[in-house]
Amino acid sequence: MTPEMQDFLARAMFEHAPVGLMLLTAEGEIRAVCRESSDLLGLPPESLQGRRLFDLLREDDRESLATLLALARGASHPVREVMVLSGPPERVIRLHVSAIPAGKVGGEFLFNCAVIDFTERRRLEQELETARRAAEEASLAKSRFLANMSHEMRTPLNGVLGLLDLTLRLELGEEQRENLRMVRDAGRNLLTIINDILDITKIETGMLDLVNEPFDLDRVLSTTARMFSIEARAKGIELRYVKSLETPQELFGDPVRLRQVLANLVGNAIKFTDKGWVEISAKPWACPHDNPSKTCLLFEVRDTGCGIPRELQAPIFDSFTQADASYSRRYQGTGLGLAICKRLVELMGGEVWVESEPGAGAAFSFTATFDLARPAIPEQGEGPVVGGLRLPALRILLAEDNRVNQTFARRALEMDGHSVACAANGRQALQMLDRDGPFDLVLMDIQMPEMDGMEATRRIRAGEGGGFDPGVPIIALTAYAMKGDKDRFLSAGMNDYISKPFDTTELSEVIGRVMLRP
Ligand code: ADP
Repeated sequence: MTPEMQDFLARAMFEHAPVGLMLLTAEGEIRAVCRESSDLLGLPPESLQGRRLFDLLREDDRESLATLLALARGASHPVREVMVLSGPPERVIRLHVSAIPAGKVGGEFLFNCAVIDFTERRRLEQELETARRAAEEASLAKSRFLANMSHEMRTPLNGVLGLLDLTLRLELGEEQRENLRMVRDAGRNLLTIINDILDITKIETGMLDLVNEPFDLDRVLSTTARMFSIEARAKGIELRYVKSLETPQELFGDPVRLRQVLANLVGNAIKFTDKGWVEISAKPWACPHDNPSKTCLLFEVRDTGCGIPRELQAPIFDSFTQADASYSRRYQGTGLGLAICKRLVELMGGEVWVESEPGAGAAFSFTATFDLARPAIPEQGEGPVVGGLRLPALRILLAEDNRVNQTFARRALEMDGHSVACAANGRQALQMLDRDGPFDLVLMDIQMPEMDGMEATRRIRAGEGGGFDPGVPIIALTAYAMKGDKDRFLSAGMNDYISKPFDTTELSEVIGRVMLRP
């Protein structure tokens, strides 16, 4: 084939290509354009030739084209969408641009550009997006309606159940009593279902917020085990709670929702186990984040029950799904429990999963992240720096009756390098001052059983009850910080006070103020 013939064919192929093609310079000038492209752009080839493509674009699309050309120099096939608004009707044109190396075309960078009509596709995408938004809105409206309904239904149902309980205390015939008991049980089941629906809809509409308050993990686990002990005994199943010593017990989180997840898993384990045991445990788990003020725990609920087939182990975490439809006849349930657990666990920054062999029991595990009382551990033997001065390590007597508060304060003080002895009331504090002293400082809760903090302070200052220093510094720990309280505490002989809830910095500062006071 002669070079002229080759040239002719290449030109014909370009000009009559069934797709839009263009050659652009680095400045966006149209060097060559095929018929299809000019049709798509709505302008005759003569008026496009030599024209800057930028001039056909909207302001913001010009920037896109400039970026596109710059990118195309480096990559082989970058794709960018550019709206072309020149020729009527308004169109969406997508340009696929690739650079032809400068050396190949007389030292100039040229860009090969495919011009694709995207108008229809974009229209469909927009329609789909609108339909998706409408469906989402409808689903949200449905969830809100369900949440409101369940809420409204709970109020009269609570009334019904309350009155049933009262009526059951009256003198009744055996048959009447039996009938009312059945009504009450059915009502309780109904309430559980309504609560589940309320929870799942609240979670799905983002209406459920977890609280972050101090709690004792051991208490949550042991009360959960206790809640189910009668049911387990009635079925002849052993229900065990395995404590782990290395698990931190004083945490910040949502104890009510944590108990709800555990109760759901333990309730299921007992429901689906006919003989053997159910075991609850919690242990530390590698934290996905490196934050020393947080801790991640792994909770497990194992049983020796019927187990779950492998293919159903993932779907049971979806709403309204049960492992075997026939089970729903044998065991009551809505299939909402695990869906709620999954979402609550996710809100607690963890995940839930199950391992099981049919006939060989199931092990449900979940992780959750909690805040710890205090992150930093200072050097040993020295107290913290307060107001630029280092506080010496002190022997502190902490009089506080609330176990959780006591543990927090003790931990915070120990982490500051102090040593701490705890008393559960004022009377015990006096005994310990006499017996276990000397102490450098007393932290005194105001409200305590047997002897409150005010009385104990008065007795200490009066030198009653032993050979300790009656001038020992005393800081009041108080939940009341009302006007005039400070004067009351000071006139009872206290040196300062700190109101609860306090943070550890405040605690160090008040101790520093008292101990470093000239
Ligand atoms: P419900 O118990 O109300 O049906 P759940 O979401 O709590 O709903 O559980 C879904 C399904 O998962 C149950 O119906 C049951 O088929 C299966 N399942 C849950 N826990 C266990 C378990 N410990 N052993 C066997 N199957 C279980």
